[in-house]
Amino acid sequence: MGRTVSRLVMKFGGTSVADLERIRRVGRLVAAEVAAGHQVAVVVSAMSGKTNELVAWTDGAGRAAQGIPESDDEYDTVVASGEQVTAGLLAMTLRNMGLKARSWAGWQVPIYTDEAHGRARIDEIPPEKLLKAFDDGEVAVIAGFQGVTRDGRIATLGRGGSDTSAVAVAAAVGGACDIYTDVDGVYTTDPRIEAKAKRLAKISYEEMLEMASLGAKVLQTRSVELAMAQRVPVRVLSSFVEPGEAPGQGTIVCDEEEIMEKRIVSGVAYSRDEAKITLLGLPDHPGVSSLIFSKLADANVNVDMIVQSRARTSDSANMEFTVGKRDAQRAVEIVRAAQVEIGFEDVAVNEDVAKVSVIGVGMRSHAGVAKTMFGALAEKGVNIQVISTSEIKISVLIDAAYTELAVRALHAAYGLDQL
Ligand code: ASP
Ligand code: MG
Repeated sequence: MGRTVSRLVMKFGGTSVADLERIRRVGRLVAAEVAAGHQVAVVVSAMSGKTNELVAWTDGAGRAAQGIPESDDEYDTVVASGEQVTAGLLAMTLRNMGLKARSWAGWQVPIYTDEAHGRARIDEIPPEKLLKAFDDGEVAVIAGFQGVTRDGRIATLGRGGSDTSAVAVAAAVGGACDIYTDVDGVYTTDPRIEAKAKRLAKISYEEMLEMASLGAKVLQTRSVELAMAQRVPVRVLSSFVEPGEAPGQGTIVCDEEEIMEKRIVSGVAYSRDEAKITLLGLPDHPGVSSLIFSKLADANVNVDMIVQSRARTSDSANMEFTVGKRDAQRAVEIVRAAQVEIGFEDVAVNEDVAKVSVIGVGMRSHAGVAKTMFGALAEKGVNIQVISTSEIKISVLIDAAYTELAVRALHAAYGLDQL
């Protein structure tokens, strides 16, 4: 009597449910939380590799050939199926372990989304049915990555979208969200590049958001946005342990105020997904940038870093900007088609670039963060092509060949291997 039962959403990624053996281990982790008195909903990804295979099938079935640029409703019907398989298998496994459990497809919950197939956004999750399952002592095993539009079509949330499903369900039922994956938390940088990378016990929502959008692959960017907006407590932890092992591990993603030890820099992220486009000999007068970037925006090309500089000898300017690698050729075609209208002399594209970023809320109140970054890169002979900053991050674009070198140098320069 009077005991408050807490609600918990446990999310398991593709590698955590890669085969039946691992699904059974997931079952044990779920059972342990139920035994601890939590009301549990589980969100699952497709078995690892499944979604790629399904996407390839849709290409083979003519999606690419039909020239459908974005995904459509039938693409979603196909690629959403992977999660349905794991939801069913896990529910079966839990039942075999003697727990009450059932699977839920996105449309059964329902997880309502907008109509943007292939990258849909969740707009509402009525919690009633899940709350009823909780009251009945039943574990709800929900297929991640998928929802349903208001007119009843299956929609998917973009690659990595099960993280967002989990956070959204946690927000809807008023619970915390544990994201189980193949690493035991969020690291100061990619441990495959720097073996001295350290697990962070806590990271703020804002830093996590920057880390995710700057290339750290642990969480889908949107899931962090949502967690931050709805103040959902999130924890990232490994599913490759048995219940009870390694207590207290993982990384907690939380409000900045909840973090005692303030670091200036919390992490180093990198991305090789960008390409740099250079426009030479642009007329130097108002309206030129506006023209270029409205053409790119109209074609849905996302631009990231931008620099413009005036040429010393003539009355012209040069501009460099970066776009996602997969949009690079399209972006070049778009500006080339408007060469006369824009009035530039030459355009070039460089795909051999990488963006390396340092992230930390401490930057807001500390001087010299940029100095340390540029100094460390200079010492290694790494040339900086483009720089961009925000309140809590500094990014540089460099030659892709120096990615690892730069990541390691920066990790050391901010003392992250000493944490
Ligand atoms: N299975 C989907 C993907 O690979 C969604 C997810 O796992 O988050 O993108
Ligand atoms: Mg993922």
